Amino acid sequence: MNKKFANIILPATLALTLGVSTAVYAAPQSNPNGPYIEDNQNISLSSYMSNAELSKKLQQLEASANGKMKLEIAGYSNLSPDGYQTETEKGEPIYLVKFGDSNPNKKRILITAQIHGNEQIGAETAMDIIQKLSSNGKEVEEILDNVSIWIMPRINPEGADNLYEGTWYPTRYTHQTWLPENIGLPTDTVAPWYYNSDGSERAQNNDGRVVYGIPGYDQNRDYNPNLDFRVENQDLNEVASFLNSRATNNSRFGGFYVTAEARTVTSVFKEFRPDVYVDVHHRGFNTVSDVDNRSVPVQFAAAVADPYTDPFTGQQYEVDEEVLTLAKQVNALSALTLQKGNSHFGAVQKYPDVNLPGTALGAFALNDASIMLIEIKGQSQTLGQKQSGMLKETVTQPLMAVFKGLADRSVYDVDTTIYDEIPEASNSISDPTTRDF
Ligand SMILES: [Zn+2]
Repeated sequence: MNKKFANIILPATLALTLGVSTAVYAAPQSNPNGPYIEDNQNISLSSYMSNAELSKKLQQLEASANGKMKLEIAGYSNLSPDGYQTETEKGEPIYLVKFGDSNPNKKRILITAQIHGNEQIGAETAMDIIQKLSSNGKEVEEILDNVSIWIMPRINPEGADNLYEGTWYPTRYTHQTWLPENIGLPTDTVAPWYYNSDGSERAQNNDGRVVYGIPGYDQNRDYNPNLDFRVENQDLNEVASFLNSRATNNSRFGGFYVTAEARTVTSVFKEFRPDVYVDVHHRGFNTVSDVDNRSVPVQFAAAVADPYTDPFTGQQYEVDEEVLTLAKQVNALSALTLQKGNSHFGAVQKYPDVNLPGTALGAFALNDASIMLIEIKGQSQTLGQKQSGMLKETVTQPLMAVFKGLADRSVYDVDTTIYDEIPEASNSISDPTTRDF
């Protein structure tokens, strides 16, 4: 039985594109302006959580949640197909927080954050949501009676807790060396295109590049619409020739599931089969438009992958109509939740159109999950902790609304044209350190 919440008030038209000024601003002015941190030394990262701190906080939350929350280790960062197989070399735990089980009679939502290790606020936001859900209260009770919520707050623990010259230096990439001979491929097999062989990041100082020296992968290209794709189960000659050709080793195809992290998250997805999957990222800087200089706090997207044909099996994948409809409703409800007068909270945009079947969102959308990409403004290395309180709210408020909308099913009444009318990404403000989804 569903307990009903008060109906969500949906304005007939959403004033998302409202102009606030007749003045035309030249980039990079925005409101609130900047700030772009010019030197890594000056970034305040006081609330940065190490992996050990994250682990401790999660255990404390579980202990005080009266059995409502279950903390599990879904996998380890080093149990990958090309090495590090010993018990002592497991790597970092990848945590899974469960509110409710995979009961098919409940609506199910999976949230992941910090797939890119330098996207810190995503993990902090996930922790805020875990805290809210583990507290007592009627609102939470009504949500959890009807919805199971699984959260993986930091799915790239190695990048998140990376050190460079003795100080904390979070990186986009995982830590793992391409060793094709360890998975039965010829030694000279070309690495997947999303391999970062020298361990480098873009930066604002050091001529735009910092080499921290630990190779790794962009985990968010390592997924595959064929969730069961495993190099070791394939025809190895076929895989080698696929990798050795630029025509096939590129972003138009699914990834190779060479990282333990992507395999772990996918195994959780397969166990849970969520109705909705949300992945939280960070991006660059935009203003709304030439006549609206509000700084965009967050971008959303309900679709990131086109129909896909698996080059190895010929199997076809596409996003079902119903799945896309719910994705648009979830994204629209999120955008609506942030409309508060003319505040910058409401200055949301859509993420640019992309076709990335190797992303977690892309692969899972092609396997019947309605998705929401959340892209928070700025990167850890540009904004540091500045505005983090506000930015976290631009994620927690929409997600709490989505939980309620799933619990009382009112999200299914949201008009999808509201999503279609969210302004497109535009007016980006150049910032050499940022890279997005
Ligand atoms: Zn990202």
